[in-house]
Amino acid sequence: MKLEEHAKSLAIRAKSRVGDTVVAYEVMKWPEGRLQQFIEMGLLRPLPDADEIRCPGCTDSCMIVPIRTILPNGEPYAEHLCGKEGLVEIPDFLFKCWQIVINKMIELGYYHETQDNRGKREKEKTKKQAKKKNFEHWPSPGDACFIIENERIEFHYDGEIKDLKLKKDSNADQMIKYLQAPVSGKIIKKILCSPGTRPSDLKDQTNEQLNKKIATVGFIMPMNNIEFIRFVDTRNEYECVLEIYQSRGDFTRLELEQSLVDDRRFKDLDTAEDQY
Ligand SMILES: [Zn+2]
Repeated sequence: MKLEEHAKSLAIRAKSRVGDTVVAYEVMKWPEGRLQQFIEMGLLRPLPDADEIRCPGCTDSCMIVPIRTILPNGEPYAEHLCGKEGLVEIPDFLFKCWQIVINKMIELGYYHETQDNRGKREKEKTKKQAKKKNFEHWPSPGDACFIIENERIEFHYDGEIKDLKLKKDSNADQMIKYLQAPVSGKIIKKILCSPGTRPSDLKDQTNEQLNKKIATVGFIMPMNNIEFIRFVDTRNEYECVLEIYQSRGDFTRLELEQSLVDDRRFKDLDTAEDQY
């Protein structure tokens, strides 16, 4: 099959129910060098190795999970005890798989979205953008903070502290616990996102959840669509706009220190004023 035809057929298949994953068995039937070409063109990108592969020992095509190890000489090694063929050694290549990059297929003209699909995508995009615009910067984030007390997320505002009653391991619960310091999008994706969820979606969902819970437990906020978690372009990191304290003890201690600093500053102002 010629490259162009081949690429087109992969694109169609990626959009079908077969899905966008290409496994090593398939690649072995391709013309020499085709895989490398597709990768260089950006039409395929490597996925993490598969755990489960088809048994190379027999013709039953049963799916197996071979035992893999690294030999003392650094070479990968895998084997499987096949019911028919006995112990078979499994070449490392058989674990490899790739994802068909549909956007690149479209870009290079190997796939044409139907008008219908494109319309749907555009609509989703505008919907998302509209949603993003919904969150507003809070002018005085210093007035409030999150406190993690015994694994619970509490919110402090206007002299009151309340448990936000977040479900354990909900998006908001996990985000606040992770974002005690800024975290890169890559790590958020790896640790907190389920497949198919992007860090930016998680951020939006978290902001939505936090605004809702804060209102539900009885806080009256200056606005009900505050951006608590934000993405910082320049650093490619997510961060919490508010301070996150590790415990109520930490919060009280640091608040006290802060107020002493403020007092001192006021005192300095007073004395400066008295000089005149
Ligand atoms: Zn077998």
